Amino acid sequence: MDVAGVIAAKRDGRELDAATLRALVLGFTGGEIPDYQMSAFLMAGYLRGFSAGEASALTQAMVESGERLDLSALRGPTVDKHSTGGVADGTTLIVAPLAAELGMQLLKLSGRGLGHTGGTLDKLESIPGMRTALPVRELLAQVDRIGLAVGAQTAELAPADGALYALRDVTATVANTALIASSVMSKKLAGGASAIVIDVKVGSGAFMKELAAARELAALCVALGRDAGRATAAVLSDMSQPLGTMIGNAVEVREAIEVLRGERRTRLRELSVALAAGLARLAGVAGDAGDGRARAERALDSGAALERFRLFVEAQGGDPRVIDRPGLLPAAPLTREVTAPRHAWLAAVDGEALGMAAARLGAGRQRKGDAVDPATGIEFLPSVGDEVAGGAPVARVFARTEEQARRAAGEILGALSWAGEPVSPPPLIHDRVGGGTGS
Ligand code: URA
Repeated sequence: MDVAGVIAAKRDGRELDAATLRALVLGFTGGEIPDYQMSAFLMAGYLRGFSAGEASALTQAMVESGERLDLSALRGPTVDKHSTGGVADGTTLIVAPLAAELGMQLLKLSGRGLGHTGGTLDKLESIPGMRTALPVRELLAQVDRIGLAVGAQTAELAPADGALYALRDVTATVANTALIASSVMSKKLAGGASAIVIDVKVGSGAFMKELAAARELAALCVALGRDAGRATAAVLSDMSQPLGTMIGNAVEVREAIEVLRGERRTRLRELSVALAAGLARLAGVAGDAGDGRARAERALDSGAALERFRLFVEAQGGDPRVIDRPGLLPAAPLTREVTAPRHAWLAAVDGEALGMAAARLGAGRQRKGDAVDPATGIEFLPSVGDEVAGGAPVARVFARTEEQARRAAGEILGALSWAGEPVSPPPLIHDRVGGGTGS
């Protein structure tokens, strides 16, 4: 194919047909189209945009680049969720056992953290012994047995996304609606679930900083899912501050266990319940979102979801004792408190900067393939709108060295904006697209 001609057409703002996009994606994945041409194409598309038809063609080509999971042997309704990436977003650890407890079957293939965003696999692997690199047949058998499994994204599933994402990451072409939607939905469609909820994050800690752009992304994801015959909905959730209080790996597992134990009635719990209720509604196991929400709340308060999490940890080789004894999770040698400089109201948080501060402590990675430190991280205490006394703690840093802790403390304070008068907190859920995602 005339790749330079295709790049020129996109550069000049022309719409490309499905056959051309398919040949481009498959040619790139097959190694016939080099990185430098694909990079130029991605930047042209990033700047000029893609139509809904182009997004659909990109998604289909990415699905076609690899295998599709066949979940037909599973008995219950199959569901999947995906977050577009945020800070202190441990919802999968809570939604997965909740979904199983509500009678759904969830096989989730997750990714690792990159840049300021955390990754479910890194969090899970902080549990001693926990395995995520499991063959699909084992994951399926586990879902059949206990209702849930979380494994590593395999190279066989939408491999075009893996290759394209790696290129987008280093060419500043991630934050484009069609590219994100096709990346997310190709993985979900290849994953085979019949009901899908996408958690589109919006705000300073998300790829989408503005509500209008996030809304567009949510609508496109829902349309791509529905066109492929899957019940799909999206929640636009707030990422203008960390979702949970813990940012890191073992510390996020610890917080998730506390939520599963019914101890924390926080934003993290509220969003997890909304996502589980949305799945229940889409999958037809709840009459309406209110019913799904009430059942999810009960599963948390009764300890049933926690017991399901225990089965999950055991099934994947993890040490289930961490559930009753979180002290068995890796812990950093130093804990240092960060205090508020003066009396004020917390007006805004740069979520991306907080995520980067945690990543630099070792909790995240700057490059794909870097190792993460399971023990380090940040506990971020206030929420936007809180009145904070001068000298009161705003964060705890879990670090390996004093130098690391000092740097993180400076970065945390630099990420906060203060006001001299009361500030309204942002809503947790800005909007819903596709219905059935709670109310
Ligand atoms: N998450 C994804 O899976 N893909 C993107 O492009 C961005 C967030």
